[in-house]
Amino acid sequence: MTGKKQWFFRKKEPADKTEHPRKKKDKGREMVLVTYAFLILFLVMIGYLVWYVAARSDRFINNPYNSKRIDAFAENTVRGDITDRNGVVLAETKTNADGTETRVYPKANRYAHVVGYTSNGKMGVEQLANYYLLRSHANPILRLKNSFSEEKDPGDTCVTTLSDEVQAAAYEALGSYRGAIIAMNPETGEILCCVSKPDFDPNEVEWTYETLASSDNGVLLNRASQGRYPPGSTFKIVTTLEYQREHPKDAENFHFTCEGIFAAGGKDIHCYHNTAHGEEDLMDAFADSCNSAYAKIGLTLDPKSFQKTADRMFFDKAIVCDLPTEKPRFELAENASEAALMETAIGQGKTYVTPLQMLLIASAVENGGVAKKPFLLKEIRNVDGKRVETFYGKKLRRLMSKEEAEGLESYMRRVVTDGTAKALQSDRFTAYGKTGTAEYDDEGNSHSWFVGYARSEDRDPIALAVILEGAGSGSAVAVPAARSVLEAYFG
Ligand SMILES: [Zn+2]
Repeated sequence: MTGKKQWFFRKKEPADKTEHPRKKKDKGREMVLVTYAFLILFLVMIGYLVWYVAARSDRFINNPYNSKRIDAFAENTVRGDITDRNGVVLAETKTNADGTETRVYPKANRYAHVVGYTSNGKMGVEQLANYYLLRSHANPILRLKNSFSEEKDPGDTCVTTLSDEVQAAAYEALGSYRGAIIAMNPETGEILCCVSKPDFDPNEVEWTYETLASSDNGVLLNRASQGRYPPGSTFKIVTTLEYQREHPKDAENFHFTCEGIFAAGGKDIHCYHNTAHGEEDLMDAFADSCNSAYAKIGLTLDPKSFQKTADRMFFDKAIVCDLPTEKPRFELAENASEAALMETAIGQGKTYVTPLQMLLIASAVENGGVAKKPFLLKEIRNVDGKRVETFYGKKLRRLMSKEEAEGLESYMRRVVTDGTAKALQSDRFTAYGKTGTAEYDDEGNSHSWFVGYARSEDRDPIALAVILEGAGSGSAVAVPAARSVLEAYFG
């Protein structure tokens, strides 16, 4: 090394005496500068590479486009388990007598979309936690022994935020309906259950994938986060907020006499079964889910301001979280017709929401106006159960002020004490929410909705969104389904 350097910097007599010695010296200095420049560039590149591997490797390796690279890990590691928050195994790898491996899902269809599968591409937690499942933090002595005996290392376990008790209740509650139930802790964002139907058995995806992928009922779609539905009356949470914002002084003085039908702009708006709700203030109209009153409210709203309030509720962009999502839709032209204003106010018209989005709106009401980012990975543990990594909730967005959230909470409580969700009254918990009966065709068929949350003194709160496709009234079908989930959670 030094020899080389000496050679490089060795002074030589100028060959041409006529050449100015000063000029020669400049040339030498240029060479030195160029050398140092290259050296610095080289060090920067090495530094960047080290930083990239250390700081970015999780994201880089877990990028689906690098799946070949990460799958190479599988040659040395037995893919780790996926469990619920209490250690109930949701996915595990069994090594067969001939040395081949089978990925097994003991709960079969129950976790089809959220835990997912690993053959024919990856989905759900299997994709989300791919990197962690193929990494091993097993005892170093065991790993050293394995490397000599050419045995595979046991991959780390991914502990999810899911609760098998809640997931099982939600799966049962959906019954044979298509639809979704999703629940989370509104104060942390931990997803407690995420069920979508129709479902499939992830144990069989290896040979059923072609049929599943080509079916026209969207069986592979996670309806909890990707299904787009008319919100029906659950949207009255947003309409109420907008009305209060536009009428900060006199919203509480709103008064309406419902005759079961309201006509304006050549359009009739009906209350459910044309029920005449009679004398109502705003809270009565919300609790009874009076379409006539809300159609009248719609006529008073400023489309531009309504759009702004809606955009804040995730209509402006897709929700980025641990679940695959679709962008919801809310369109209200500045010169919207009376019919469009009335339909939008009652959650019909051109508005489409996702259950995840409605869950976040209810969660924000519970959590002082702030929606937390929904997440699925709780911890990574090694094969002996030692914690390697912990994940925490983050703020996603403030949807409304604390005062506005408190105001809406009193409305959502009235729905349970005196309105369409009376079946959620319980000694075990205090529930809040809004039902919806969302028409989706001209024959009066409708989806059954409930969105809300519940609290008790000894448990964390739980927020949930329930939709049963084509099941009819929210009060009659979605509310009892929500009750099953809450009872499973509160015990
Ligand atoms: Zn009415």
